[in-house]
Amino acid sequence: MTKIYNFAAGPAVLPEAVLQQVQAELLDWHGSGMSVMEMSHRGKEFMSIAAEAEADLRELMAIPAGYKVLFLQGGASAQFGMIPMNLLRGKKSADYLNTGEWSKKAIGEAKKFCEVNVVATSADKNFSYAPTQDQWKLNADAAYVHYTSNETIGGVEMFWTPNVGAVPLVADMSSHILSRPVDVAKHALIYAGAQKNIGPAGLTIVIVRDDLIGETVAGTPSMYDYKIHAENESMYNTPPTFAIYVAGLVFKWLKANGGLAAMEKTNTTKANMLYDYLDGTSFFNCPTAKENRSRMNIPFTLKDEALDEAFLKGAKDQGLLQLKGHRSVGGMRASIYNAMPIEGVRVLVEYMKEFEKNNS
Ligand SMILES: *Cc1c(COP(=O)(O)O)cnc(C)c1O
Repeated sequence: MTKIYNFAAGPAVLPEAVLQQVQAELLDWHGSGMSVMEMSHRGKEFMSIAAEAEADLRELMAIPAGYKVLFLQGGASAQFGMIPMNLLRGKKSADYLNTGEWSKKAIGEAKKFCEVNVVATSADKNFSYAPTQDQWKLNADAAYVHYTSNETIGGVEMFWTPNVGAVPLVADMSSHILSRPVDVAKHALIYAGAQKNIGPAGLTIVIVRDDLIGETVAGTPSMYDYKIHAENESMYNTPPTFAIYVAGLVFKWLKANGGLAAMEKTNTTKANMLYDYLDGTSFFNCPTAKENRSRMNIPFTLKDEALDEAFLKGAKDQGLLQLKGHRSVGGMRASIYNAMPIEGVRVLVEYMKEFEKNNS
Protein backbone atom coordinates (compact mmCIF):
# COMPACT_ATOMS: atom_id res chain seq x y z
CA MET A 1 0.00 0.00 0.00
CA THR A 2 1.25 3.51 -0.79
CA LYS A 3 2.19 5.45 2.33
CA ILE A 4 0.35 8.77 2.35
CA TYR A 5 -0.34 11.51 4.87
CA ASN A 6 -3.79 13.00 4.66
CA PHE A 7 -4.00 16.68 5.68
CA ALA A 8 -7.71 17.08 4.82
CA ALA A 9 -9.85 19.32 7.04
CA GLY A 10 -12.66 16.75 7.18
CA PRO A 11 -13.54 14.02 6.67
CA ALA A 12 -10.01 13.48 7.83
CA VAL A 13 -7.31 11.09 8.92
CA LEU A 14 -8.27 8.35 11.41
CA PRO A 15 -5.89 6.39 13.64
CA GLU A 16 -4.46 3.49 11.66
CA ALA A 17 -4.88 1.15 14.64
CA VAL A 18 -8.60 1.94 14.70
CA LEU A 19 -9.00 1.28 10.99
CA GLN A 20 -7.22 -2.05 11.42
CA GLN A 21 -9.54 -3.01 14.24
CA VAL A 22 -12.57 -2.04 12.15
CA GLN A 23 -11.22 -4.23 9.36
CA ALA A 24 -10.62 -7.17 11.69
CA GLU A 25 -14.14 -6.90 13.15
CA LEU A 26 -15.92 -5.92 9.95
CA LEU A 27 -17.56 -9.23 9.08
CA ASP A 28 -17.99 -10.64 12.57
CA TRP A 29 -18.20 -8.30 15.53
CA HIS A 30 -17.15 -10.12 18.73
CA GLY A 31 -18.51 -13.49 17.60
CA SER A 32 -21.96 -12.08 16.78
CA GLY A 33 -21.61 -13.40 13.22
CA MET A 34 -22.49 -10.03 11.78
CA SER A 35 -21.10 -6.63 11.02
CA VAL A 36 -21.95 -3.68 13.26
CA MET A 37 -23.50 -2.20 10.11
CA GLU A 38 -26.08 -4.98 10.10
CA MET A 39 -27.11 -4.82 13.74
CA SER A 40 -30.38 -3.54 15.13
CA HIS A 41 -29.78 -0.34 17.03
CA ARG A 42 -32.06 -1.72 19.73
CA GLY A 43 -30.28 -5.04 20.08
CA LYS A 44 -28.08 -5.72 23.11
CA GLU A 45 -24.85 -5.76 21.05
CA PHE A 46 -25.27 -2.29 19.59
CA MET A 47 -26.75 -0.89 22.82
CA SER A 48 -23.54 -1.96 24.56
CA ILE A 49 -21.39 -0.35 21.84
CA ALA A 50 -23.25 2.96 22.20
CA ALA A 51 -23.22 2.88 26.01
CA GLU A 52 -19.49 2.19 26.09
CA ALA A 53 -18.81 5.00 23.61
CA GLU A 54 -20.73 7.42 25.81
CA ALA A 55 -18.99 6.25 28.99
CA ASP A 56 -15.56 6.57 27.37
CA LEU A 57 -16.32 10.05 26.05
CA ARG A 58 -17.54 11.13 29.50
CA GLU A 59 -14.33 9.84 31.04
CA LEU A 60 -12.05 11.42 28.40
CA MET A 61 -13.65 14.86 28.63
CA ALA A 62 -14.44 14.59 32.36
CA ILE A 63 -18.06 15.50 31.61
CA PRO A 64 -19.73 16.27 34.95
CA ALA A 65 -23.03 14.77 36.07
CA GLY A 66 -25.91 16.99 34.97
CA TYR A 67 -24.98 16.91 31.29
CA LYS A 68 -26.53 14.80 28.56
CA VAL A 69 -24.37 13.35 25.81
CA LEU A 70 -26.33 13.03 22.58
CA PHE A 71 -25.31 11.14 19.43
CA LEU A 72 -27.15 12.93 16.63
CA GLN A 73 -27.05 13.43 12.86
CA GLY A 74 -27.22 16.48 10.62
CA GLY A 75 -23.68 17.67 11.30
CA ALA A 76 -22.63 20.77 13.17
CA SER A 77 -24.71 22.61 10.56
CA ALA A 78 -27.96 21.19 11.98
CA GLN A 79 -26.84 22.45 15.40
CA PHE A 80 -26.68 25.99 14.02
CA GLY A 81 -30.50 25.81 13.93
CA MET A 82 -31.15 23.42 16.82
CA ILE A 83 -29.35 25.68 19.28
CA PRO A 84 -31.70 28.65 18.92
CA MET A 85 -34.72 26.31 18.65
CA ASN A 86 -33.86 24.75 22.00
CA LEU A 87 -32.00 27.41 23.96
CA LEU A 88 -33.96 30.62 23.28
CA ARG A 89 -36.53 29.53 25.88
CA GLY A 90 -38.74 32.59 25.46
CA LYS A 91 -35.90 35.09 25.03
CA LYS A 92 -35.67 37.34 22.01
CA SER A 93 -31.93 37.51 21.34
CA ALA A 94 -28.65 35.63 21.48
CA ASP A 95 -25.01 36.77 21.55
CA TYR A 96 -22.53 35.50 18.95
CA LEU A 97 -18.79 36.00 18.58
CA ASN A 98 -17.81 36.23 14.90
CA THR A 99 -14.37 34.78 14.24
CA GLY A 100 -14.83 33.45 10.72
CA GLU A 101 -16.67 31.30 8.22
CA TRP A 102 -18.28 28.89 10.69
CA SER A 103 -19.30 31.65 13.09
CA LYS A 104 -20.99 33.40 10.16
CA LYS A 105 -22.93 30.25 9.26
CA ALA A 106 -24.06 29.83 12.88
CA ILE A 107 -25.13 33.49 13.00
CA GLY A 108 -27.04 33.16 9.72
CA GLU A 109 -29.12 30.29 11.05
CA ALA A 110 -29.77 31.93 14.43
CA LYS A 111 -31.11 35.02 12.66
CA LYS A 112 -34.02 32.90 11.44
CA PHE A 113 -35.16 32.55 15.06
CA CYS A 114 -34.04 35.61 16.99
CA GLU A 115 -32.17 38.85 17.07
CA VAL A 116 -28.44 38.23 16.94
CA ASN A 117 -26.08 40.53 18.79
CA VAL A 118 -22.54 40.11 17.43
CA VAL A 119 -20.45 40.72 20.55
CA ALA A 120 -17.22 41.20 18.58
CA THR A 121 -15.80 40.34 15.18
CA SER A 122 -12.37 39.87 13.64
CA ALA A 123 -13.61 40.82 10.16
CA ASP A 124 -11.24 43.83 10.23
CA LYS A 125 -8.25 41.49 9.79
CA ASN A 126 -9.80 38.84 7.54
CA PHE A 127 -10.68 36.67 10.57
CA SER A 128 -7.06 35.96 11.45
CA TYR A 129 -7.55 36.31 15.23
CA ALA A 130 -10.14 36.06 18.01
CA PRO A 131 -11.09 39.30 19.83
CA THR A 132 -10.26 39.13 23.54
CA GLN A 133 -13.14 39.38 25.95
CA ASP A 134 -12.42 43.00 26.91
CA GLN A 135 -13.51 43.85 23.34
CA TRP A 136 -16.85 42.04 23.57
CA LYS A 137 -20.17 43.80 24.01
CA LEU A 138 -22.26 41.23 25.85
CA ASN A 139 -26.00 41.66 26.23
CA ALA A 140 -27.29 40.70 29.68
CA ASP A 141 -30.62 39.61 28.17
CA ALA A 142 -29.12 37.15 25.71
CA ALA A 143 -30.52 33.62 25.81
CA TYR A 144 -26.97 32.30 25.35
CA VAL A 145 -23.50 33.26 24.07
CA HIS A 146 -22.14 31.29 21.11
CA TYR A 147 -18.51 31.05 20.01
CA THR A 148 -16.49 28.90 17.63
CA SER A 149 -13.53 27.72 19.68
CA ASN A 150 -11.55 26.61 16.63
CA GLU A 151 -12.27 28.19 13.25
CA THR A 152 -11.30 25.41 10.87
CA ILE A 153 -10.87 27.60 7.81
CA GLY A 154 -8.96 30.53 9.30
CA GLY A 155 -7.04 28.27 11.68
CA VAL A 156 -8.01 30.47 14.64
CA GLU A 157 -8.13 28.68 17.99
CA MET A 158 -9.14 30.18 21.31
CA PHE A 159 -7.02 28.96 24.21
CA TRP A 160 -9.23 30.54 26.88
CA THR A 161 -12.84 30.00 27.85
CA PRO A 162 -15.07 33.09 27.77
CA ASN A 163 -16.54 34.13 31.09
CA VAL A 164 -20.17 35.08 30.51
CA GLY A 165 -21.54 34.82 34.03
CA ALA A 166 -24.93 33.17 34.31
CA VAL A 167 -25.71 33.31 30.58
CA PRO A 168 -25.35 29.84 29.01
CA LEU A 169 -22.13 29.48 27.00
CA VAL A 170 -22.29 27.47 23.76
CA ALA A 171 -19.24 26.28 21.83
CA ASP A 172 -18.80 24.84 18.35
CA MET A 173 -15.77 22.60 18.96
CA SER A 174 -16.13 20.64 15.70
CA SER A 175 -12.50 20.82 14.63
CA HIS A 176 -10.62 20.59 17.93
CA ILE A 177 -12.76 18.60 20.34
CA LEU A 178 -10.60 15.94 22.05
CA SER A 179 -7.38 17.70 21.03
CA ARG A 180 -6.81 18.90 24.62
CA PRO A 181 -8.68 19.02 27.93
CA VAL A 182 -11.50 21.60 28.17
CA ASP A 183 -13.55 22.69 31.14
CA VAL A 184 -16.95 21.30 30.22
CA ALA A 185 -18.58 22.79 33.34
CA LYS A 186 -17.93 26.32 32.06
CA HIS A 187 -20.14 25.51 29.08
CA ALA A 188 -23.88 25.00 28.77
CA LEU A 189 -23.56 23.21 25.45
CA ILE A 190 -20.67 21.87 23.39
CA TYR A 191 -21.17 20.41 19.92
CA ALA A 192 -19.04 18.88 17.20
CA GLY A 193 -19.43 17.08 13.92
CA ALA A 194 -17.45 13.85 14.16
CA GLN A 195 -15.62 13.94 10.85
CA LYS A 196 -12.81 16.25 11.92
CA ASN A 197 -11.24 14.93 15.11
CA ILE A 198 -13.53 12.09 16.20
CA GLY A 199 -14.51 9.56 13.54
CA PRO A 200 -16.43 9.10 10.31
CA ALA A 201 -18.94 11.61 8.96
CA GLY A 202 -22.56 11.11 9.92
CA LEU A 203 -22.32 11.52 13.69
CA THR A 204 -22.71 14.79 15.60
CA ILE A 205 -21.98 14.97 19.30
CA VAL A 206 -23.90 17.34 21.58
CA ILE A 207 -23.06 17.75 25.26
CA VAL A 208 -25.81 19.77 26.91
CA ARG A 209 -26.66 20.78 30.46
CA ASP A 210 -29.86 19.11 31.69
CA ASP A 211 -31.67 22.26 32.79
CA LEU A 212 -31.52 23.79 29.30
CA ILE A 213 -33.59 21.23 27.48
CA GLY A 214 -37.34 20.84 27.16
CA GLU A 215 -38.49 24.28 26.08
CA THR A 216 -38.34 24.52 22.30
CA VAL A 217 -39.74 27.21 20.02
CA ALA A 218 -43.24 26.45 18.70
CA GLY A 219 -43.24 24.10 15.75
CA THR A 220 -39.87 22.49 16.49
CA PRO A 221 -39.85 19.06 14.83
CA SER A 222 -39.19 16.13 17.20
CA MET A 223 -35.88 15.41 15.50
CA TYR A 224 -34.64 18.89 16.49
CA ASP A 225 -35.67 18.65 20.12
CA TYR A 226 -32.80 17.77 22.49
CA LYS A 227 -35.25 16.55 25.12
CA ILE A 228 -36.69 13.90 22.82
CA HIS A 229 -33.22 12.62 21.98
CA ALA A 230 -32.18 12.72 25.63
CA GLU A 231 -35.25 10.82 26.83
CA ASN A 232 -34.64 8.18 24.19
CA GLU A 233 -30.89 7.91 24.83
CA SER A 234 -30.18 9.05 21.26
CA MET A 235 -32.33 6.21 19.90
CA TYR A 236 -35.50 8.15 19.14
CA ASN A 237 -34.92 7.11 15.55
CA THR A 238 -32.15 5.04 13.96
CA PRO A 239 -28.84 6.59 15.01
CA PRO A 240 -25.70 6.52 12.79
CA THR A 241 -24.70 3.14 14.19
CA PHE A 242 -21.46 2.50 12.31
CA ALA A 243 -20.15 6.02 12.93
CA ILE A 244 -20.90 5.65 16.66
CA TYR A 245 -19.03 2.34 16.70
CA VAL A 246 -15.93 3.80 15.00
CA ALA A 247 -16.02 6.90 17.23
CA GLY A 248 -16.15 4.55 20.21
CA LEU A 249 -12.99 2.81 18.99
CA VAL A 250 -11.31 6.22 18.63
CA PHE A 251 -12.26 7.02 22.25
CA LYS A 252 -10.60 3.77 23.35
CA TRP A 253 -7.53 4.62 21.27
CA LEU A 254 -7.35 8.03 22.98
CA LYS A 255 -7.65 6.44 26.41
CA ALA A 256 -4.93 3.90 25.60
CA ASN A 257 -2.66 6.72 24.45
CA GLY A 258 -2.81 8.82 27.60
CA GLY A 259 -6.07 10.74 27.13
CA LEU A 260 -6.47 14.40 26.28
CA ALA A 261 -3.51 15.74 28.29
CA ALA A 262 -1.18 13.49 26.30
CA MET A 263 -2.92 14.50 23.07
CA GLU A 264 -2.36 18.16 23.91
CA LYS A 265 1.36 17.54 24.35
CA THR A 266 1.72 15.73 21.04
CA ASN A 267 -0.51 18.21 19.24
CA THR A 268 1.57 21.11 20.55
CA THR A 269 4.76 19.42 19.38
CA LYS A 270 3.32 18.77 15.92
CA ALA A 271 1.93 22.30 15.49
CA ASN A 272 5.17 23.91 16.68
CA MET A 273 7.20 21.92 14.15
CA LEU A 274 5.22 23.60 11.39
CA TYR A 275 4.85 27.08 12.93
CA ASP A 276 8.55 27.26 13.85
CA TYR A 277 9.50 26.57 10.28
CA LEU A 278 6.93 29.07 8.93
CA ASP A 279 8.27 31.75 11.29
CA GLY A 280 11.83 31.22 10.16
CA THR A 281 11.28 31.71 6.44
CA SER A 282 9.94 34.46 4.22
CA PHE A 283 9.17 31.98 1.45
CA PHE A 284 5.97 30.96 3.26
CA ASN A 285 3.64 33.07 5.37
CA CYS A 286 1.22 32.13 8.15
CA PRO A 287 -1.64 34.68 8.35
CA THR A 288 -2.87 33.74 11.84
CA ALA A 289 -2.21 35.87 14.93
CA LYS A 290 0.34 34.13 17.16
CA GLU A 291 -1.93 33.92 20.19
CA ASN A 292 -4.66 32.18 18.17
CA ARG A 293 -2.67 29.74 16.11
CA SER A 294 -4.68 26.56 15.84
CA ARG A 295 -2.96 23.30 16.69
CA MET A 296 -5.36 21.49 14.38
CA ASN A 297 -5.69 23.58 11.20
CA ILE A 298 -2.68 25.51 9.95
CA PRO A 299 -3.19 27.80 6.96
CA PHE A 300 -0.13 29.12 5.13
CA THR A 301 0.55 30.85 1.84
CA LEU A 302 3.48 30.89 -0.54
CA LYS A 303 5.06 34.29 -1.07
CA ASP A 304 4.63 33.72 -4.79
CA GLU A 305 1.21 32.24 -5.42
CA ALA A 306 2.25 31.35 -8.96
CA LEU A 307 4.07 28.46 -7.28
CA ASP A 308 0.94 27.09 -5.54
CA GLU A 309 0.22 24.50 -8.18
CA ALA A 310 3.77 23.22 -8.33
CA PHE A 311 3.83 23.02 -4.53
CA LEU A 312 0.65 20.95 -4.44
CA LYS A 313 1.78 18.67 -7.25
CA GLY A 314 5.16 18.05 -5.62
CA ALA A 315 3.44 17.38 -2.30
CA LYS A 316 1.12 14.86 -3.90
CA ASP A 317 4.06 13.08 -5.51
CA GLN A 318 5.49 12.61 -2.00
CA GLY A 319 2.18 11.30 -0.63
CA LEU A 320 1.29 14.56 1.14
CA LEU A 321 -2.38 14.95 0.28
CA GLN A 322 -5.19 17.49 0.61
CA LEU A 323 -3.05 20.53 1.38
CA LYS A 324 -4.98 23.02 -0.75
CA GLY A 325 -6.32 25.86 1.38
CA HIS A 326 -9.87 27.12 1.57
CA ARG A 327 -10.72 29.67 -1.10
CA SER A 328 -11.44 32.41 1.47
CA VAL A 329 -7.85 32.27 2.78
CA GLY A 330 -6.06 30.95 -0.30
CA GLY A 331 -2.77 29.10 -0.32
CA MET A 332 -2.49 25.94 1.73
CA ARG A 333 -3.92 24.43 4.88
CA ALA A 334 -2.51 21.51 6.81
CA SER A 335 -5.04 19.90 9.14
CA ILE A 336 -3.11 17.88 11.70
CA TYR A 337 -5.72 16.25 13.90
CA ASN A 338 -5.04 13.78 16.73
CA ALA A 339 -4.63 10.91 14.27
CA MET A 340 -1.90 12.65 12.22
CA PRO A 341 1.38 11.07 13.33
CA ILE A 342 4.37 13.31 14.17
CA GLU A 343 6.13 11.65 11.26
CA GLY A 344 3.56 13.10 8.85
CA VAL A 345 4.33 16.64 10.00
CA ARG A 346 8.07 15.95 9.84
CA VAL A 347 7.78 14.76 6.23
CA LEU A 348 5.67 17.82 5.36
CA VAL A 349 8.20 20.27 6.84
CA GLU A 350 11.05 18.45 5.05
CA TYR A 351 9.17 18.77 1.79
CA MET A 352 8.54 22.48 2.38
CA LYS A 353 12.24 23.09 3.06
CA GLU A 354 13.20 21.23 -0.07
CA PHE A 355 10.62 23.12 -2.13
CA GLU A 356 11.89 26.42 -0.78
CA LYS A 357 15.49 25.51 -1.65
CA ASN A 358 14.57 24.50 -5.19
CA ASN A 359 12.44 27.57 -5.88
CA SER A 360 14.31 30.44 -4.25
C1 LIG B 1 -16.86 21.43 9.57
C2 LIG B 1 -17.39 22.41 10.54
C3 LIG B 1 -18.78 22.68 10.64
C4 LIG B 1 -19.79 22.02 9.74
O1 LIG B 1 -19.85 20.68 10.01
P1 LIG B 1 -20.88 19.70 9.28
O2 LIG B 1 -20.76 18.48 10.12
O3 LIG B 1 -20.40 19.52 7.88
O4 LIG B 1 -22.23 20.31 9.33
C5 LIG B 1 -19.20 23.57 11.59
N1 LIG B 1 -18.34 24.18 12.41
C6 LIG B 1 -17.00 23.96 12.34
C7 LIG B 1 -16.09 24.68 13.28
C8 LIG B 1 -16.49 23.07 11.40
O5 LIG B 1 -15.18 22.83 11.33
